[in-house]
Amino acid sequence: MAIAIDLEDRRTSGIEFFDRSDARPRVAIIGGGITGLTAAFRLSELTPNIQIKLFEAGSRVGGVLKSVRQEGFLLECGADNFITITPEALDLCRRIGFDNQLVRTNTGLRQAMVVRKGRLCKIPDGFIIMAPSKIWPMITTPILSPLGKLRLVLEYLVPTNTDDVDESLAAFVVRRFGRETYERLIQPLVGSIYASNPDQLSLKATLPRFITMEREYGSLIRGALRERANRQKKQSDTGSGAPYSLFVAPRDGMSSMVNALAEKLPKETVQLGAPVDRITRNPSGGWTLAISGDRTEDCDVDAVIIATPAHRAASSLADVDPTLCSHLSKIPYASSAIVTLGYRRDQIAHALDGFGFVVPQAERRGILSASFSSVKYPGRAPDEMVLLRAFVGGPTITDAPGCSDERLFAIASEELGQLLTIQGQPTIQHVVRHKSVMPQYVLGHCENIKNIESRISTLPGLELAGNVYQGVGIPNCILSGQQAAERVLEQIGVPK
Ligand SMILES: Cc1cc2nc3c(=O)[nH]c(=O)nc-3n(C[C@H](O)[C@H](O)[C@H](O)COP(=O)(O)OP(=O)(O)OC[C@H]3O[C@@H](n4cnc5c(N)ncnc54)[C@H](O)[C@@H]3O)c2cc1C
Repeated sequence: MAIAIDLEDRRTSGIEFFDRSDARPRVAIIGGGITGLTAAFRLSELTPNIQIKLFEAGSRVGGVLKSVRQEGFLLECGADNFITITPEALDLCRRIGFDNQLVRTNTGLRQAMVVRKGRLCKIPDGFIIMAPSKIWPMITTPILSPLGKLRLVLEYLVPTNTDDVDESLAAFVVRRFGRETYERLIQPLVGSIYASNPDQLSLKATLPRFITMEREYGSLIRGALRERANRQKKQSDTGSGAPYSLFVAPRDGMSSMVNALAEKLPKETVQLGAPVDRITRNPSGGWTLAISGDRTEDCDVDAVIIATPAHRAASSLADVDPTLCSHLSKIPYASSAIVTLGYRRDQIAHALDGFGFVVPQAERRGILSASFSSVKYPGRAPDEMVLLRAFVGGPTITDAPGCSDERLFAIASEELGQLLTIQGQPTIQHVVRHKSVMPQYVLGHCENIKNIESRISTLPGLELAGNVYQGVGIPNCILSGQQAAERVLEQIGVPK
């Protein structure tokens, strides 16, 4: 990437991070994932009257977003798409002229499955995370027993909880729908989104919409039915459906999107191989960044946006505010291991008539979920080939990221082989491990975030952004990065 300067180039050529002869205020962004890149872009979009540098510890931008091409397959190491109803990602793509690179999910096969007693069953039509918006598919689904269905329908009669307690997602679902719906449907669905156990997740922090729905309609089933009717009325009134599918992905993978965003930044904004180890406050009110611990002199800045995982932010802020650090360090992170396998289509007997499946813990398997990547989006596999992606983990594998590649491949190929009836070996295999990258919105998360925000409000010129604060999805990260950039400009008094 022409715009990026790596640490070695800078050391050998004596280039300084910021131009000392330039009197414009300096803003530093730490972390070159989607959040940090968006923050940098928003600053550059709003004003030319500042100098911006983005410091990234690694050798490329994108953070957990990374695409790999292997023998004609296009693999995603992290996220493989983003949602469009939360508009920030789509809107950003439009602003950088990237929206024409987005592809929709394959129409007709928008269907997910769940494993039930070793078989794949379709998730009932109209079931959105935890709100059934159609009754008949729930009554006829083979996923639940007759008693489980009866208990689910009785949700209509469950009294509304008006306490303001921080209820766990699992407790909420069991209270409203019963244990079977939780164990067979909602635990695997929610667990695959948040990479964690819903027993520990805070409903208020992860899916507050369902609290509102309970309070507003007295029942999630009633709420889901009403909302569906309203959506249908709106569509027939306007005469048009949604212009985009619910999820979209960059045609050439997530890396193409983050690279396009980085290309829009002013020249030499991105500094690769530049980990920020320490941040200290200057007596003059600005901030000094210690990069790799040995070069602080060039990095006095007026404002900093930290867009790294919270535990990394905590370690860099140890000299600034120990209380803030202890709040940040409290946020737990999950790790994951993903195995991607490419097969010839004729090796797989299953119809692959959906986008993938989730696995309830009750099935006691070694994979948590799998996507049929090449069914979901075009261009992921050569003709007559199929790309499958499995998240390894679950009750039988306690430390998936700690397993060897061989073991991860063996678990994924064996489990996919059983569930999809696959013959023979894959043509390609790829493994990626993510260590402590997915924040867990556990009970008490909202309170902890309030505490963090209150400490940050006492530190003008310092902002935090990322997947800890407003949601874990890409659109949430983009929103968080944009808002941090806007707050920084206000604080340093640069007009937008
Ligand atoms: C496996 C997986 C699948 C996912 N799937 C989806 C999905 O399908 N759709 C969706 O919307 N979301 C998905 N997500 C969530 C989403 O991808 C992430 O929340 C988002 O990409 C996080 O971006 P970020 O920039 O906040 O953090 P990161 O991507 O973690 O970037 C942080 C960056 O900071 C750098 N850094 C850290 N410390 C320092 C330091 N001291 N100095 C300088 N740089 C530093 C890191 O090297 C990294 O590049 C998924 C996440 C994972 C892990």
